[in-house]
Amino acid sequence: MLISKDDRLIFEKSSAGRTGAGLPTAFIAAKNPFKTLNPKFRRKEDAQFPEVAEPEIIRHYVNLSRKNFSIDTHFYPLGSCTMKYNPKLNEWAAAQEGFSQVHPHQPESTIQGYMHILYELEQFLKTMTGMDHFTLQPAAGAHGELTGMMLIHAYHHSRGDTKRRKVLVPDSSHGTNPATAALLGYEVVTLKSNARGRVDLAELKSHLDETSACLMLTNPNTMGLFESDILEITKAVHQAGALLYYDGANLNALLGIARPGDMGFDIVHLNLHKTFSTPHGGGGPGAGPVGVKAYLLPFLPHPLVEKTGSAYRWAAESKQSVGRVKSFFGNAGMLLRAYTYIVTLGIDGIKKISEDAVINANYLKEKLKDVLPVAVDEVCMHEFVLTLKAAKAKGIHSGDVGKRLLDYGYHAPTVHFPLVVDEALMIEPTESESRETLDLFIAALRQIAREIEESPELVLGAPWTMPIGRPDEVKAARNPILTYRDVVREREKNAKEPVASKP
Ligand SMILES: *Cc1c(COP(=O)(O)O)cnc(C)c1O
Repeated sequence: MLISKDDRLIFEKSSAGRTGAGLPTAFIAAKNPFKTLNPKFRRKEDAQFPEVAEPEIIRHYVNLSRKNFSIDTHFYPLGSCTMKYNPKLNEWAAAQEGFSQVHPHQPESTIQGYMHILYELEQFLKTMTGMDHFTLQPAAGAHGELTGMMLIHAYHHSRGDTKRRKVLVPDSSHGTNPATAALLGYEVVTLKSNARGRVDLAELKSHLDETSACLMLTNPNTMGLFESDILEITKAVHQAGALLYYDGANLNALLGIARPGDMGFDIVHLNLHKTFSTPHGGGGPGAGPVGVKAYLLPFLPHPLVEKTGSAYRWAAESKQSVGRVKSFFGNAGMLLRAYTYIVTLGIDGIKKISEDAVINANYLKEKLKDVLPVAVDEVCMHEFVLTLKAAKAKGIHSGDVGKRLLDYGYHAPTVHFPLVVDEALMIEPTESESRETLDLFIAALRQIAREIEESPELVLGAPWTMPIGRPDEVKAARNPILTYRDVVREREKNAKEPVASKP
């Protein structure tokens, strides 16, 4: 170890009185805001901040940021997450004062430009999906699902149809689908996929009856495959009086090519933070607009923008509305970014996204399948799933390959999902990657496939190059060490316990 390496935490670099900032003395003298503050709002003791100079705080944050993988630093083929490049132009647009400084209670007449963008975004999403109306309020995909399922519940109940308590989901579905249905008190029925990784029509029909509320479906499904029986599926569901919910978190294969509305879906949600390039990850802000067919309009959450002549206003609230699902206009900054992305590309550019995303995915799949078998080897859409079940005999799991890829400079693909594939490795390159990047990634995965055969310990011990290697994943998620106090507590605990020997 290098003796001079400074790995002290920011609190350990603190030195009393050192600072990188100062308030103007004239301001403090003139109207010291602290003097007039009601004492009950004052701190009893000083806040515990590290006292450091500007270079130290800059290095602290820049170094922290460099410990992360991000789409701005690395190829990020995380299946089902659509980690495409987020154009910086979107950030510029959303930061414009006319948007970022708007107060949500401002009168309509002063935010006509803002309302114009919300309205236009809605028109675009309608055109892209074949739906008749959209709410832009939901803050994420799962939140869109919740909103959509509330609409389905409200619709059935408005017709006195109260027996519908079952929600059907395929076994390959995203985990949020059954979770959403269960959260609303529905009984979740899991449909077994057929050998081609798709909905089994006979299985679906055997579960459809007057107690079915809806089928939640992703198309392309989480195997990256198009549901070729989609028209028969939607017909069967409608004949049973149930509705079709489209999980459109990833629309990256269909833009300008096929529309869920035309397939017969009644409700869709979209993830603007996947398909429309607004940044996501770490639970950060997203946007999950929900689109519906015309007959569901009365149930949509408010506010909705309305246009009369060339003026915009908030529509009158419908009595049947499920109510608000988010404050004000939703995550408006995300909506602005998505709108910027859409107008930058134009309709032709938008269609090209899907063409390129599908070509990139198929290119990777074809170049990898001789060393890492594909779960269902057919033409895929925007993503595909490999299976590492052969490596299992050596004690290697798909998660180990994900860890090893970090050493090669790539974010891990989605591992161990979808659950229907043994040792799944789910890869989604997106359209923003060049042929050269894909070729380097292919070379890395082929090299890892060789390592599995020749030196499995390299894969099993990976990553070798990261600041943190293999934390206890459950503990890391439930009891993360995030603050200096967590670090101190953890150190004190470890000092008491005997040091565990390395396996
Ligand atoms: C990402 C995703 C979701 C959930 O979206 P969040 O914004 O993370 O809540 C739902 N369904 C599918 C298919 C997804 O890929």
